[in-house]
Amino acid sequence: MNISSVGVVGAGQMGNGIAHVFALAGFDVVLNDIDRGAIECALKLVETNLARQVNSGRITKKDAEAALKRISTSMTLADLGATDLIIEAATERESVKVAIFEDLVPHLGQNTILTSNTSSISITRLASRTDRPERFMGFHFMNPVPVMQLVELIRGIATDDQTYQTLKEVVERLGKTSATAEDFPAFIVNRILMPMINEAVYTLYEGVGSVSSIDSAMKLGTNHPMGPLQLADFIGLDTCLAIMNVLHDGLADTKYRPCPLLTKYVEAGWLGRKTERGFYDYREDPPEPTR
Ligand code: NAD
Repeated sequence: MNISSVGVVGAGQMGNGIAHVFALAGFDVVLNDIDRGAIECALKLVETNLARQVNSGRITKKDAEAALKRISTSMTLADLGATDLIIEAATERESVKVAIFEDLVPHLGQNTILTSNTSSISITRLASRTDRPERFMGFHFMNPVPVMQLVELIRGIATDDQTYQTLKEVVERLGKTSATAEDFPAFIVNRILMPMINEAVYTLYEGVGSVSSIDSAMKLGTNHPMGPLQLADFIGLDTCLAIMNVLHDGLADTKYRPCPLLTKYVEAGWLGRKTERGFYDYREDPPEPTR
């Protein structure tokens, strides 16, 4: 199936990056959010990040201008109905995603492929709430999307081969690489990454180390480019907690129990970089550890 237009639902951290890479690869993009401020912010970010790529010589000014022109915006889901592929990248909450798919379905063309960028929620379950489980897949981009090479492809139980092949080819057109995962809680990347981040929060909670010592230990001791707490702030602590809850509920194993300190940060609204405070306070330069 030929894909030339894409609808992106959710213009947050992931949605702006997804719109950026699709527009740069020549797809027409319609970017949607319920929050007008999020859309405005996303467009500004795309412009800034494209300019950065121009300055570093990776793309030309003409490429950047053409990409920006390919992005239109809408606060009405029905306006995404005419696109060939929809990527849902809204808040990591199943009820939010189900409501989006239910609202979208009546407006879709017969062949439109539906995908979710969810980090952890069951693709099979989300697909079952639509009229097209065979044309539904997990399409998991990594953060920041313009920089990260991987896209995880997750087949639901009903996903057909044509949908899978189409999305594999789309990933190639973006110049990225796919890895295929079975539809089990948190798939591959987050099944391995999130328990490590959660363990880092337990290490902090139990007083084994401070924020700085935990991050330094993991950066310098294991050659990770970022410490786990810095990475958690970058991902968003609400997203980290939501993924741990999916692992805990879906696999029913106490080893996935979310750390109470992670819950406390989320309850405080200290969600990491996006709210300027998490394990670090980003209002300070350089960011100051909060514990
Ligand atoms: P975010 O909080 O930055 O953005 C979510 C956006 O969704 C917000 O702008 C919000 O207004 C919007 N939204 C909420 N309800 C909506 C609705 N009904 N219709 C349209 N828009 C709606 O979150 P994010 O980090 O961009 O995460 C989005 C998705 O991507 C989640 O499923 C998350 O698990 C996944 N993801 C996140 C990361 C990461 O590192 N943050 C990485 C890979 C995948």
